[in-house]
Amino acid sequence: ERERLWRLRHRPAVTLDGERIELLANIEMPEDTAAAMQAGAQGVGLFRSEFLFMGREARHLTRLPDEEEQYEAYRRAVEGMQGMPVTIRTIDIGADKPLDGKAARQEYLNPALGLRAIRWSLSEPAMFLAQLRAILRAAAHGPVNLLIPMLAHAREIRQTLVFIDKARAELQARGDTAGPVRLGAMIEVPAAALSLSVFLKHFDFLSIGTNDLIQYTLAIDRADESVAHLYDASHPAVLRLVAQTIAEARRLGKGVSVCGEMAGDVHFTRLLLGLGLRSFSMHPSQILTVKQEVLRADAGKLADWARQVVESDDPAELLGR
Ligand code: PEP
Ligand code: MG
Repeated sequence: ERERLWRLRHRPAVTLDGERIELLANIEMPEDTAAAMQAGAQGVGLFRSEFLFMGREARHLTRLPDEEEQYEAYRRAVEGMQGMPVTIRTIDIGADKPLDGKAARQEYLNPALGLRAIRWSLSEPAMFLAQLRAILRAAAHGPVNLLIPMLAHAREIRQTLVFIDKARAELQARGDTAGPVRLGAMIEVPAAALSLSVFLKHFDFLSIGTNDLIQYTLAIDRADESVAHLYDASHPAVLRLVAQTIAEARRLGKGVSVCGEMAGDVHFTRLLLGLGLRSFSMHPSQILTVKQEVLRADAGKLADWARQVVESDDPAELLGR
């Protein structure tokens, strides 16, 4: 079986009815691009940049990565993908991903609802600007998408765009080369999924973070074992938010991808194809299994069934779960 999957490595991911599907890799470190390339990924759909900032004490690193160190890491990821796009997500610390030394904010009861991800970045202007400059510089070496986590408010979007302009201006003033980036927003807070027009006005693409979207929609802490049985990707509320996000992005001709666990779970491949998703990002180890499912699917024929699943009161039953 593993050998059979391995042979799919260089086979394009095309459905029976001829739809080309983009299968991308989620990575945590630049070195992970090797596994992504080996699995035949067509790019990186999610580089979780916070991993450059985490666990540094264990690696005997005494300070957080500065602009130069980040630039090197992003450039290595870009070069590792040999001309294919790399989506770099700005730092998503807080909650389950504490930062060494710095306030992990575990003192709060609900870190997942606290100063996390973009909220944290907007509260640390020097750090945010350094990261943005590093990403823009790496973008001079190959195609880069810049992805912002956990946005919910129009005000946060506006502030983020100001920071990006400022980072670009700083590089220009320094005489450094910045590359172009496509700009994307994670849709992982229900408020974002329910106000898509605001996001689609400002961003080139959306990336659905189902891990957090499930957590926040169902009010289930994704790290709490005692409620893990209630963490349900096939809850109708979750599927309706995912379906709407895909449909709205497509209607406006914007890119849309899923980069949460749902994208790498073969139980959802046919549903997502039927809902119109054409870009999936997952751990490199899941790519070939998902590709096998794509090769067997007829996306056009799945559309009606997918709509029924999403409108159903018991999607899990129709998904055969
Ligand atoms: C997600 O929330 O689905 C996601 C991809 O981001 P992370 O798992 O890093 O929070
Ligand atoms: Mg997330």
